[in-house]
Amino acid sequence: MVNKSVIVVGGGIVGCLTALNLAQRGCQATIVERNQIAAQASGESSWAGAGILFPLLPWMYKDEVNALALQGASLYPQICDALKREMGIDPEYTQSGMLIQPPFDKALAHAWCNNNQVDFEQVGENVLLPNVAQLRPPHLLQALKQLLIQHNVTLLEHTQLEPIKQVEKINSWNTNTGTALRADAFVVTSGAWSFELLKDTSAGLNIKPMRGQILLYDLSHQSASDLPTHIIYRDGFYLVPRRDGLLLAGSTLEDVGFDPRTTEDVKQQLKTKAESMLPLLKDMPIHRHWSGLRPGTPDNLPTIAQHPTIGNLYLNTGHFRYGLTMAPASAERIAELIL
Ligand SMILES: Cc1cc2nc3c(=O)[nH]c(=O)nc-3n(C[C@H](O)[C@H](O)[C@H](O)COP(=O)(O)OP(=O)(O)OC[C@H]3O[C@@H](n4cnc5c(N)ncnc54)[C@H](O)[C@@H]3O)c2cc1C
Repeated sequence: MVNKSVIVVGGGIVGCLTALNLAQRGCQATIVERNQIAAQASGESSWAGAGILFPLLPWMYKDEVNALALQGASLYPQICDALKREMGIDPEYTQSGMLIQPPFDKALAHAWCNNNQVDFEQVGENVLLPNVAQLRPPHLLQALKQLLIQHNVTLLEHTQLEPIKQVEKINSWNTNTGTALRADAFVVTSGAWSFELLKDTSAGLNIKPMRGQILLYDLSHQSASDLPTHIIYRDGFYLVPRRDGLLLAGSTLEDVGFDPRTTEDVKQQLKTKAESMLPLLKDMPIHRHWSGLRPGTPDNLPTIAQHPTIGNLYLNTGHFRYGLTMAPASAERIAELIL
């Protein structure tokens, strides 16, 4: 048993899975979260995500991005099974498949699938990836929160860590409540806010918030045969059908700083795109509309590393569009580094 104390800064999906992994390896883990874990607050990304466990057009990304995403996706069936069985909360892991509609490079898509042993079917002009899965992020986070408590992870909510200065080693880290927290090691998993937190150090992070908005339709009263069974992707836009007849339509990539609001013009744009892909959505009321701030990084590549100069500080952040997918693999990698 490794009895190391580790403070994880930020309780999104990356922080929750990092803390869980550390606790399972015998660490005393604490998550410090400025809001509330598993609740929709002011722009946190994890709650807001669509929950597709695969990159969109993976052949457009670098191998490192896909390696992390595919490894993360492969760990979810086991995680979700355990959460459902032990916590009684079902993250609704569902292998719904993803249908990719043109425009896309068919030859490149086929070659990538073949090279990566990813099953695919050509269906007319579309490519179907039948094994792509999805889950419901709010359910996943609620279940994880309970599992963290069961693993004796301390959850320090409504507590914000202040930006730190360059030091050789962090002995204590100040919070907005006037207390200072001590631990053997610290991990920054603060998503879009990670750059601000560490900008006076030599972390070298290149992370900025990228807002995404999503619409939710309630199609539970429609005949099941009228509803899509697969995730459908076309030209930067997707529809995600849930088991209970809800349907997500998203999303946007907006460079608007830390503004977590939803906007009427984007609502109309998303509505138009959604209706063009699924005409039965015309005149349907929008059930909900939300946004989240992704931790945007060049090339979609997160930083999973020890801080370059602060000995007991680690970084697990910047997962941009695929943090839900990558988080289980990313948590394993950072835990191995810390220990
Ligand atoms: C619209 C949308 C759709 C998406 N769809 C998908 C998808 O289908 N599949 C996928 O894989 N990914 C998707 N993503 C991306 C994914 O949601 C993110 O990559 C992932 O959630 C990042 O997780 P995180 O834990 O790093 O960040 P966050 O969830 O933002 O968590 C960071 C946490 O740190 C806390 N924090 C920040 N600063 C401090 C501080 N100083 N002290 C204490 N706490 C602090 C914040 O309050 C926050 O809770 C989507 C994102 C959006 C917005």
